[in-house]
Amino acid sequence: MTVVRALQPPPEAPLQVARVLHTAGFEAWFVGGCVRDRLLGREVGDWDLTTNARPEQVIPLFARTIPTGIAHGTVTVVLGGSSIEVTTYRVELGYSDGRRPDGVAFTDDLRRDLERRDFTINAMAWDPDRGLLVDPFGGQADLADRCLRAVGRAFDRFSEDGLRTLRAIRFATVLDFDIEPLTFAAIRETLAVFRQVSAERIHVELVKILGSPHAGRGLSWLIESGLLDEFLPGLPLEASSIADALRVAVPSLTVRCALLFGELHDPAAGLTRLKFSLAQRRDILAVLASREIDPEAVLTDADARRFVAKVGKENLDAIEGYQAALSADQTAWSGLFGRLSRCGARDAPVTARELALTGHDVMSRLALPPSREVGRIVQALIERVLEAPELNDAETLAALLPEVAASLRPDER
Ligand code: ATP
Ligand code: MG
Repeated sequence: MTVVRALQPPPEAPLQVARVLHTAGFEAWFVGGCVRDRLLGREVGDWDLTTNARPEQVIPLFARTIPTGIAHGTVTVVLGGSSIEVTTYRVELGYSDGRRPDGVAFTDDLRRDLERRDFTINAMAWDPDRGLLVDPFGGQADLADRCLRAVGRAFDRFSEDGLRTLRAIRFATVLDFDIEPLTFAAIRETLAVFRQVSAERIHVELVKILGSPHAGRGLSWLIESGLLDEFLPGLPLEASSIADALRVAVPSLTVRCALLFGELHDPAAGLTRLKFSLAQRRDILAVLASREIDPEAVLTDADARRFVAKVGKENLDAIEGYQAALSADQTAWSGLFGRLSRCGARDAPVTARELALTGHDVMSRLALPPSREVGRIVQALIERVLEAPELNDAETLAALLPEVAASLRPDER
């Protein structure tokens, strides 16, 4: 146990929860990510507490609690608009499936609770009121060295729970740490255990890696350790070029996913397998569709507006970010985006919704019933407006209607 230098204390609500537990005669420590992040001076996400109180002893101490994971010892205390997870000291009773412990048992020994945790920097407990830090595995030293190290033998710890290998790369990526060599070597030695991890959990970690400013470094580790090949098989050998692209890419998740999944033979299948949502898939595939476009064929302002209509305004930023990170020779694409800005194509009317006449207007002005013909007339109007945006005014378009309707081929009516 060490006395810690003055650290900024936790916010009022979590501090209050710890004090209530202390006053009732229990031990209570902030633990895990919040301690790590406070010591690093990073913003803290969740203020988690670990205690020797059993769930049934925690619940009566607070007005509002949620039995989040009673069987595993976790009670969520709701106080002052915050939720604080309070978990009883526990040990894990063996792992037979590489995913979750066969059971957990409560203990009265804080050290044993810290021992079950994954990395030294995540295995510290802090009591801000007393200024005490419990750090049995050298977490502070590893923070100072910016080193990610498993608690105990990495091979054993990764053999228990396959997710820890990917968490190792995620933490090192997000924190911009190195990975201690034995910890890193153990990733490759336990790939068979990693195969038990669900796609949902891989998704969560992958998104954090790709979202990090150091995503390129993370991807290099994923490749080198063999993990990437486990959950995204079929990437080309020169996958390291993806890491280079990630190093320069804007921080958009869509762009970064496009850079990674775009190297697969079937990006859509890869995204589905790794549980990306429908909306995420649509955005990423829209970016990848830009690969079919030849930017050098966009020669005029009208071409630029047609390009915007084709790819969709909502996808422009991501396409720009993707092409900028991807192409070694960016002149053609940056020329295209320069033209878009100069000619105002990003704000030009390019869809039916932006047209000054609605389908209803077309029907009433031409006395037409709802029909495919109406849709074709609207489409023809859009094409006119793409050619000359100044036509997009209700009266001007209305005046064009007879001519546009007459110009449809008979089979289009
Ligand atoms: P984050 O900032 O991502 O929330 P965190 O360290 O809080 O980081 P959590 O997943 O919220 O990570 O878990 C809280 C703590 O529980 C960790 O700090 C670690 O001590 C422990 N822990 C979580 N998952 C595991 C695991 N798979 N194996 C061992 N210990 C774990
Ligand atoms: Mg957390």
